[in-house]
Amino acid sequence: MNSIIAIVGRPNVGKSTFFNRLVQKREAIVDAVSGVTRDRHYGKSDWNGKEFSIIDTGGYTIGSDDIFEEEIRKQVALAIDEADIIVFVVDVEDGITPMDAEVAKILRKVKKPIFIAVNKVDNAMRAANAVEFYNLGLGDYHTISSINGSGTGDLLDAITKKIPDIEIEESSEESKEEQLPRFAVVGRPNAGKSSFINALIGEDRNIVTNIAGTTRDAIDTKYNRFGFDFNLVDTAGIRKKSKVKEDLEFYSVMRAVRSIEYSDVIILVVDATRGFEGQDQNIFWLAEKNRKGVVILVNKWDLIEKETNTMRDFKARVTKEIEPFTDVPIVFISALTKQRLFKAIETAVDVFKNRKNRISTSKFNDTMLEIVKHNPPPAIKGKFVKIKYCMQLPTPTPQFVFFCNLPQYVKDPYKRFVENKLREIYNFSGVPITIYFRQK
Ligand code: GDP
Ligand code: GDP
Repeated sequence: MNSIIAIVGRPNVGKSTFFNRLVQKREAIVDAVSGVTRDRHYGKSDWNGKEFSIIDTGGYTIGSDDIFEEEIRKQVALAIDEADIIVFVVDVEDGITPMDAEVAKILRKVKKPIFIAVNKVDNAMRAANAVEFYNLGLGDYHTISSINGSGTGDLLDAITKKIPDIEIEESSEESKEEQLPRFAVVGRPNAGKSSFINALIGEDRNIVTNIAGTTRDAIDTKYNRFGFDFNLVDTAGIRKKSKVKEDLEFYSVMRAVRSIEYSDVIILVVDATRGFEGQDQNIFWLAEKNRKGVVILVNKWDLIEKETNTMRDFKARVTKEIEPFTDVPIVFISALTKQRLFKAIETAVDVFKNRKNRISTSKFNDTMLEIVKHNPPPAIKGKFVKIKYCMQLPTPTPQFVFFCNLPQYVKDPYKRFVENKLREIYNFSGVPITIYFRQK
């Protein structure tokens, strides 16, 4: 599980510049809904071998000229709720502004690790000016220049010291192999998540156990429905939902980030009457990036007027939006009429199992080497790629390596070809897989 780092601060201090420095563009999420001033909010990165997720909360500020103090206060509050580590960015050119002082006041009460990044310290002369930020009352600060990168390495060193080792987490994940599937029900506001959960587990909420989350405040609640045992992940955010009604859109992303990190399979609830929208795509992307299983539930199917190909056409449109990872089950449900709820859970359990698929190396070689022998990568500059050996890696989620003489000549289309073949032969429906080509 990755730690979540939230970047907070008022507009124009350089939050998104800092964010972009940490996250390569293609890794970042594009938010089509609230992208009034910015379009990047969430990304994954790593430093010193530690992976983490970053949220640029500033991306949700509407307009940078007419600053909404209230807006920023809310965002800081949300970041505090959902993040593990907070980076408070301030601007050395402006010094401490009243709004900085306001944010600092909120942060002083927070128990989570907080880092002050004094940005725009592009040269040594400006470093001296940073001293005034001691007056924020949050202790020491780091001077950085998001534009030229100076200081950002030291800041990341300090931040990553607060992040637990991935190795420990992964091995503990392995030792919990027998654990029940952990499902997170996510989606846009009003897609029907609560209705789905209620329809599924009913009013009596047949709770078997309540297991408090380990390091963070998520709770798994164990259920049995239709003969399947599973946990639904309930984050602190979900329980506090009522407090932050106004921020639903932003909130749903924060909440999704958190619960996706916690679960094995993401149950993405989509509103059939609205179609598969930008925010649905974002959440899907989060799941894929985090190598979680995914099931798409198209809810409110009772409201759709159906003709012969309505379902097929809807499916085709969704598939187009989730390219290239299209091997994902889509189930059409109604939380209202309880249509296909069994199918929904059965599919989620299947995806959980698919994610645990382990293929024996000898069988994998027999099958895949035969295929690549008959369909080798195209020769480049008269050089031929020879794939000699392949195997599934002993990782918690499916990853494969193909050993060959010239891995640099294996291009994306061929990797996709191999992935498609692999998906045809083995059942990895709903599961992101990674394929590497390496020199033997
Ligand atoms: P945000 O509103 O906090 O996300 O701020 P932006 O990242 O959009 O940056 C606001 C402005 O500050 C932009 O014009 C940036 O180019 C500039 N800026 C960001 N970081 C630095 C820096 O380290 N040094 C200087 N000189 N300018 C910066
Ligand atoms: P959430 O915000 O995703 O938890 O959405 P809710 O479960 O609160 O549902 C939002 C609205 O959609 C409510 O008015 C529900 O009654 C309605 N709704 C949810 N599922 C269905 C469904 O399958 N069919 C119909 N017709 N309405 C639904």
